[in-house]
Amino acid sequence: MTTSAETLEFQSEARQLLQLMIHSIYSNKDTFLRELVSNASDALDKLRLEAFRDKELQVDTDDLHIEIDTDPEKRTLTVRDNGIGMSRDDVVALIGTIAKSGTAEFLKKLKETKDSAASQDLIGQFGIGFYASFMVADKVTLLTRRAGSDEGVRWESEGEGTYTIETVPDLPQGTSVVLHLKPEDAEDQLFDYTSATKIKQIVKKYSDFITWPIRMTEGEETATVNSMKALWARSSSDVTEDEYNEFYKHVAHDWNDPLETIRLQAEGTFEYQALLFLPGHAPLDLFMRERKRGVQLYVKRVFIMDDCEALMPEYLRFVKGVVDAQDLSLNVSREILQQDRQIQLIRRRLVKKVLSTVKTLMADENPYKYETFWKEFGRAVKEGLLDDHENRTAILDICSFASTNDPEKLTSLREYVERMKDGQEHIYYLTGESRQSIENSPHLEAFQAKGYEVLVLTDPIDEMWVDAVSGYEEKQFQSVAKGEVELDDDTTDEQKEEFSGLLTWLTTTLSEQVKEVRLSSRLTTSPACIVGDTNDVTPTLEKMYRAMGQEMPQIKRILELNPGHPLVAGLRSSFADKGESEGLAETAELLYGMALLAEGGELGDPARFTKLLATHLQKAL
Ligand code: ADP
Ligand code: MG
Repeated sequence: MTTSAETLEFQSEARQLLQLMIHSIYSNKDTFLRELVSNASDALDKLRLEAFRDKELQVDTDDLHIEIDTDPEKRTLTVRDNGIGMSRDDVVALIGTIAKSGTAEFLKKLKETKDSAASQDLIGQFGIGFYASFMVADKVTLLTRRAGSDEGVRWESEGEGTYTIETVPDLPQGTSVVLHLKPEDAEDQLFDYTSATKIKQIVKKYSDFITWPIRMTEGEETATVNSMKALWARSSSDVTEDEYNEFYKHVAHDWNDPLETIRLQAEGTFEYQALLFLPGHAPLDLFMRERKRGVQLYVKRVFIMDDCEALMPEYLRFVKGVVDAQDLSLNVSREILQQDRQIQLIRRRLVKKVLSTVKTLMADENPYKYETFWKEFGRAVKEGLLDDHENRTAILDICSFASTNDPEKLTSLREYVERMKDGQEHIYYLTGESRQSIENSPHLEAFQAKGYEVLVLTDPIDEMWVDAVSGYEEKQFQSVAKGEVELDDDTTDEQKEEFSGLLTWLTTTLSEQVKEVRLSSRLTTSPACIVGDTNDVTPTLEKMYRAMGQEMPQIKRILELNPGHPLVAGLRSSFADKGESEGLAETAELLYGMALLAEGGELGDPARFTKLLATHLQKAL
C-alpha cells in the first residue's frame, strides 16, 4: 500500500545548509560521494551490530555491500547499501533536520565570514554529510527500508525548503540514494559523475579503506572497486599520508586533514591496534554539554561503537580515531568496558601516547602544528591537570601560557624555569579575565621591577588548576595577588612603626570591604592594591561561581599600601597630625576603590565612588 505523499518543510538550520550546498562555492565537489559512501558504510556497520545483538531480527546479513550505479542517459548516480535503513520517522529526524550540536554557531559564523576561502574552511570544519549531494544534484530521491520492518519510505527533494515523503511497499532492505545530476555539469568532463571511470577514481581516492565491498557494474561485469583493507591493520609503511587523511575524514566527519596521525600497535596476550588523529580544529561543541568523544571501538575489524568514552578521558575528547581490540567479546557493553582491566590498560597507553605525540610536536622546528594544537585544544587539555593525576607532569610539559616575558609569544613551563632569576623560588602567575587587565595590574609592579616573569592566565580553567597543581620541577606556583610576597622586603621597621597607627585605623574604617590593611612590597608606582590570602578564592573565580548560580559568601581580601607613594605618605602624616576625620575616611575609601579598579574589579557602589571623587577633586582646585 502506498500512502499519499506528504510535503514537509526542512527545519530552518537544515534549510540554510541546503541553500549553502545548492549554491556551493565549495571547490571540491567530488567529496559528495565520499559522504554518501561513508553513510552507507556506517549503515552496514550498524546492521551487522544490531543483527549480532538481536538474534530475532529478521534481516539478511549474508552479502552486506555498497553498490554504485551510473546512468549517463538519465544522468543519475545511485549509491545503494543493504544496511540498517531508516524508518519514516528516522528520515524526518535524520534527513529533514540537523541534530548536530553547534549548527547554530556554525551558521552564525558563516554569515559573519566574508571571504570565500574562510567560508570554505568553515564548511569543511562542519562536515556537511548527506546534504553534500546537492552540490552535484538538483534533485535527490532516497529510498529506504529499516531492517526488520516491512514498510519502505520514499523521500524526495530539490533542496529548496521542502521535501516529499511517502510510504512505499516492497523496497529492498537498506538505502538507495539517487542523485539527479545537475545539467550544467554535463558539459564539463571534470564533473562527469555519470562516468564509471571518474567514479572509480573518486572511490579509490576517498573511500578505498571502507571495509565493505563497494561494487560497480560495467556491462556484464561487476567488480569491487575498493581494496577494503582496514588501514590500521596494514603495515604503516604501506599506507600513504593521503590514505590516513581520507580515513580521518570518514571517522571524524570532517572535511579537512588532521593535524597529526598517531599509530599504536600492541602484540602479545592482549592484541590491539589504534589509529588516532589530532584534528586541525576544535569541534564547535568542544565545550558543550552534549559533546562526544571521538574514538570508535572495533573488535576484530567489526565496528562495535562510536564515542567510546572508556578509551579516552574527557580532557582528550577531541581525539578521533579507531581502536581495534582482538580479544574482546563482540557484545561487550559500555558498562562492561568501563570496568574492563584491559580496556583501562589500553586507555592508559593511548593517553600517554597522545601526550607524548604533542610533546614531539612541541619540539618540532616548525611550530605550526603545536601552536595550532594548543590554540584549538589547550583549554580542554588543561582540564586534565585537574582530572588526570597520573599524567599531570606530562600535561604540564605540553602546556603553554602567555607571560610577561614576551607579549607576542606563549611560553612553556620549561622555558619559564630556564629563565628564572637567581634567588627566584616560585613560578609566579596572575589570573584574571583579560590579558590587558592582568598586564596593567598593580600586583605585577614589583615583580617587573625585579625582572621576575609572571604567567598571565586568562582561561576560566586556569583559576582551578593553579589551586590543584602544586608545582613544576620542584618550583611551586605562586599567585602574585595572593599571600605575602617575600621580594626582599625594603619596608623598614621604622616604616612599620610609623604606619602602624594608620593601618589599625584603616582596618577598622574599611572593615566592611577588607579584612586587613597592611604595607606592601609588591608596589612601586601604584598607591595600593588588593590581595587575597593564600587560600582565598580569586575574584574571577568568585564571579564564575556566582554566574553558575552558586551561593558565595562575600570574600574580604586585604588592602596593601605602598609606603613610598606620596598619597599614602600624605595620608599617614595627615593622620599623625590631625587624627581621624571624615575627609580621611573618604580618602581611604577612594584608595580602596582605585585599587579595585586597577585590577579590573567592579566597584560595589560606583555612584558613591564618583561622588566622593568629584568632591575631592573639587577641593584640590
Ligand atoms: P552524519 O553522517 O555526520 O551523521 P549525514 O548528513 O551524513 O551526517 O547523515 C545524517 C544521518 O542520516 C546519519 O547519521 C544516519 O543516521 C542517516 N543516514 C544517512 N545515510 C544513511 C544510510 N545510507 N543508511 C542509513 N542511515 C543513513
Ligand atoms: Mg555522514
